[in-house]
Amino acid sequence: MIQTAHAPDATSTQHDAVVLGGGLAGLSLALQLKQRLPAVNVLVLERRAHPVPVAAHKVGESTVEIGAHYFSTVLGLKEHLQHKQLKKFGFRFFFSDRERQLAAVTELGASTFLPTPAYQLDRGIFENALARFAHERGVRFLDRALVRDFTLREDGGAHAVTYEHEGSTHNVKARWLVDATGRAGLIKRRRHLAVPNEHDANAVWFRIASRIDVDDWSDDESWLERCDPPHRWLSTIHLVGDGYWVWLIPLASGSHSVGIVADAGLHPLDGMNTFNKAMKWLERHQPRLYDALDAKRGELQDFAFFRNFSYGCKQVFSGAEHWALTGEAGLFLDPFYSPGSDFIAIGNTFITELIHHDVDGGPVAMYADVYQKIYLSLYEYMLPIYVGQYKLFGDAEVMPVKVLWDYTFYWGVMCQLFFHNRLIDIIAMGRLQKELAHTHDLNVAMQLFLRAWSNVSKRRNPPQMLDQAKLGWFAELNRGLTDKLNDAAFRARMDETLAQLEALAAQIVAAATREHPALDASSVLSLLKDTSQTNSALMLFASTASTSKAGSNHGAVDGDDLSRNVAGAF
Ligand SMILES: Cc1cc2nc3c(=O)[nH]c(=O)nc-3n(C[C@H](O)[C@H](O)[C@H](O)COP(=O)(O)OP(=O)(O)OC[C@H]3O[C@@H](n4cnc5c(N)ncnc54)[C@H](O)[C@@H]3O)c2cc1C
Repeated sequence: MIQTAHAPDATSTQHDAVVLGGGLAGLSLALQLKQRLPAVNVLVLERRAHPVPVAAHKVGESTVEIGAHYFSTVLGLKEHLQHKQLKKFGFRFFFSDRERQLAAVTELGASTFLPTPAYQLDRGIFENALARFAHERGVRFLDRALVRDFTLREDGGAHAVTYEHEGSTHNVKARWLVDATGRAGLIKRRRHLAVPNEHDANAVWFRIASRIDVDDWSDDESWLERCDPPHRWLSTIHLVGDGYWVWLIPLASGSHSVGIVADAGLHPLDGMNTFNKAMKWLERHQPRLYDALDAKRGELQDFAFFRNFSYGCKQVFSGAEHWALTGEAGLFLDPFYSPGSDFIAIGNTFITELIHHDVDGGPVAMYADVYQKIYLSLYEYMLPIYVGQYKLFGDAEVMPVKVLWDYTFYWGVMCQLFFHNRLIDIIAMGRLQKELAHTHDLNVAMQLFLRAWSNVSKRRNPPQMLDQAKLGWFAELNRGLTDKLNDAAFRARMDETLAQLEALAAQIVAAATREHPALDASSVLSLLKDTSQTNSALMLFASTASTSKAGSNHGAVDGDDLSRNVAGAF
């Protein structure tokens, strides 16, 4: 139990919590700890010098709803996000492999902002601000402090940390040691906790010192008028093709971030691991982006890559020994849906709760075991969304359905648990255990089904917009995240969203098997309580049900079209 709170002075060598690494995970954890437990004495050791450079600092620039809610509402940084960062215009996908005209391919995204906000983070601006806020809230933050060594005590005694700062060596003691060193993963290495997974993908990225505005890429009036406001550049743009996606993320500093993420077998890293090679690759696969970048070669700010970026972890919390891993020091899935900051939000919330239980003299080891089980389950729940699925990313027929499914899973399950603060409520989580396990099984079955569908799909790529903002139930799922729910209302919400997932699964299977009767849907259907839901409220994009007719539609597919076309289709 943490017995005394120490004033955070510059010479103290005893700390309640020492955080190794002051990046996104470490600094936000320090803020959260001080917010929840103001008396706790927190030291953050960061090897880089502050202020860090803006724009060309780190990847992890696009947030989704959990991460955005965490930074804005849980940590109280709304004002910074609204005034110093960019509000994100959702995700936007173009099935534009080897195609110069974006207006000539399928666009998937929202025509207007959905109600629950997310942000694009310039990581340099953000980490500088986090360090400032941490200092203001009483965290002792040391930059240029390189952690050289540490001893993890197994008997519950204080851990020892040795670091170098301004040319000399220092030793500190910590009741709690948190590893937030990102891919350096100091504790993970020491304890041999790394667990490889089957997802074999690589990423390269770079920053350009000016805007890349896809709205400038076409003068087709009807295409330009699809979005209100007409600012597609604020979206996280995904230019997708078989086995890969390319990101475009605008940064508040005025730069633009560009990345290529690819299945290692389909697009080997050797073909893109320098700027010139990446450009050659883009010239072939995304020629319009290549043109835009070719004109800006002189504005290149950096270039980097990660091989095989996805990995798991055996253990992330120890309540008995008082240590924890957060952010990439623990595990990482895939950047496609930007879950990195979500996992930071969830992990930090668990760690804060564990330290809170320690302050209260509660059963920390028991809580740590349960929280870890939940945390690792969320990773397991989301892994099937990516493993083996890159091949279908270029399929303009199946991929929009997959995105709808994945998002319903994310907003309907993951976000509900985080926004309504139920992840730390072990009674609520215990009550949901059976349903969550069932939903996981359904997701695994659906991902396999979507892959099988893509193997036979005609891959039609009509020049239309699949407008998520006009799918009423989908936009409502997003809006409802910020509702305030008591226990009964939360339970009702979970029942509703789990039923929605089942109905969506039934409709996807019906749409796919109508066109491809040989598709085997038995593993999905065996998990549905009510397979007659194909005729209930209609949830899919119209073109999923009537793809062959969609070819001439240059405008957005709206709600009326949806009801008409899908109703006809079933
Ligand atoms: C290709 C790619 C794209 C991504 N895109 C997104 C995205 O769009 N959105 C998203 O949410 N997430 C994204 N992520 C994940 C994202 O990178 C993480 O969410 C986030 O950056 C992880 O933060 P972190 O604090 O764990 O690690 P980092 O930000 O890397 O921080 C670790 C810190 O530890 C410090 N450190 C390391 N060793 C020591 C030492 N010995 N002593 C002292 N300090 C040390 C480092 O200097 C560093 O500042 C992406 C990941 C990849 C691989």
